[in-house]
Amino acid sequence: MINASLTQLAALLAQKKISSVELTSAYLDRIARFNPVLNAFVTVDETASLAQAAAADARIASGAAATLTGIPIAHKDIFCADGWRTTCGSRMLANFVAPYDAHVVSQFKNAGMVSLGKTNMDEFAMGSSNETSYFGAVKNPWDITAVPGGSSGGSAAAVAARLAPAATGTDTGGSIRQPAALTGITGLKPTYGVVSRYGMIAFASSLDQAGPMAKSAEDCALLMNVMAGFDERDSTSLERPVEDYTRDLAQPMAGLRIGLPREYFGEGLSDEVARGVEAALAEYRKLGAQTVEVSLPNTRLSIPVYYVLAPAEASTNLARFDGVRYGYRAPDYKDLTDMYEQTRAQGFGAEVKRRIMIGTYVLSHGYYDAYYLQAQKIRRLIAQDFTEAFAHCDVIMGPTTPETAFDFGDKSSDPIAMYLSDIYTIAVNLAGLPGMSVPCAIAANGRPIGLQLIGDYFSESRLLGIAHQYQRVTDWHERMPPNSEQQI
Ligand code: GLN
Repeated sequence: MINASLTQLAALLAQKKISSVELTSAYLDRIARFNPVLNAFVTVDETASLAQAAAADARIASGAAATLTGIPIAHKDIFCADGWRTTCGSRMLANFVAPYDAHVVSQFKNAGMVSLGKTNMDEFAMGSSNETSYFGAVKNPWDITAVPGGSSGGSAAAVAARLAPAATGTDTGGSIRQPAALTGITGLKPTYGVVSRYGMIAFASSLDQAGPMAKSAEDCALLMNVMAGFDERDSTSLERPVEDYTRDLAQPMAGLRIGLPREYFGEGLSDEVARGVEAALAEYRKLGAQTVEVSLPNTRLSIPVYYVLAPAEASTNLARFDGVRYGYRAPDYKDLTDMYEQTRAQGFGAEVKRRIMIGTYVLSHGYYDAYYLQAQKIRRLIAQDFTEAFAHCDVIMGPTTPETAFDFGDKSSDPIAMYLSDIYTIAVNLAGLPGMSVPCAIAANGRPIGLQLIGDYFSESRLLGIAHQYQRVTDWHERMPPNSEQQI
């Protein structure tokens, strides 16, 4: 049962073969057993989860169930959840109990899904390895000496180890797709504006986007049906007709034009990841798709542009954490200014401080034109690259990451090396496009490899369909980490 799809779980619940309380208890038991090693969850509240499950059972009994009613889900700890501690992976918010639900959380609640708890993450979603979390790193269930990726590493590890059948994530520069790739699960970052950011703790507001993380594309489509849609409380939420994200799952692949960006297959890509991606492309060709070479010439500029724009936005977003309004306040201080300084010095970790300093610098008078404005211009060029590429293809494919999960400590003392983990994902955020990662191989070291799919604006359902057709003929998404049944 722990390897069942959301559709299968929904059927078991509808046929009353299992109750939501039983299902929720089963996952809570797995969390109790494996979380001490994996550290995927920061907060678990069995009483609250079981109360939600009992309410879901009552709803099912009354005949008022929605598709996913009674199925458990884990939420990245960046989403405010009413009455739940919401830490964003930071000491700054270590004791913050949210007084309201993020839009995404309330959508899942209204659908009758049961929250299993809050998942660990890099501090304020800044990182690619989960090593920046105040609550300690998350371990990769495939190999606990490896990172799970970041920043949604807790959600990724929870789904990979089958501690939850589904989870929420957020992706500012790769934080859904990169950990999905490194833990062998499926994740989707939607088009910017498709999922409301209300109640999602802001990192870089023009890039942040929430999305689903689950075993398969089909499961992600069902989750998108719940989480996407207009919300007037987010000024960048797009007012569009309600979509059924499962509608393209059965679309055949014959005639599909897959664009392969030259820049995604060059220097820096490990041979093994390249082979994994090639094997996936061969499957698509067997299904009738064709591949064409495309070019995204400004890819090489995406990391420098991102590390101007994201810190600039973060430096303003994180100004609110001042010891007055939210969370942590330093216990000893001389005066008001000292209170701010001590609070922020103690409350934020090193990576967050680095970003605030970079952001403040690039926005300062005298440097604004040289850095921030230039970066905005290049951001536009990066987006244009994709528009031109989509004139020649229906979908872009390539690796999600240059290499498989790396070991703890490998990159934590070298920020630039860490930033390069997102070389294939960041441009998608800068352009505001949808992107996915799908498991497509396991390397000789036993660590998963992800295939990235990038679509044009609002092509989520098509992307999910393209991923689903691959998952119909392969079983990488069904593979579980060794020893998932007993110990990890
Ligand atoms: N790894 C990138 C960063 O550190 C992206 C993080 C994210 O997508 N939240 O900023």
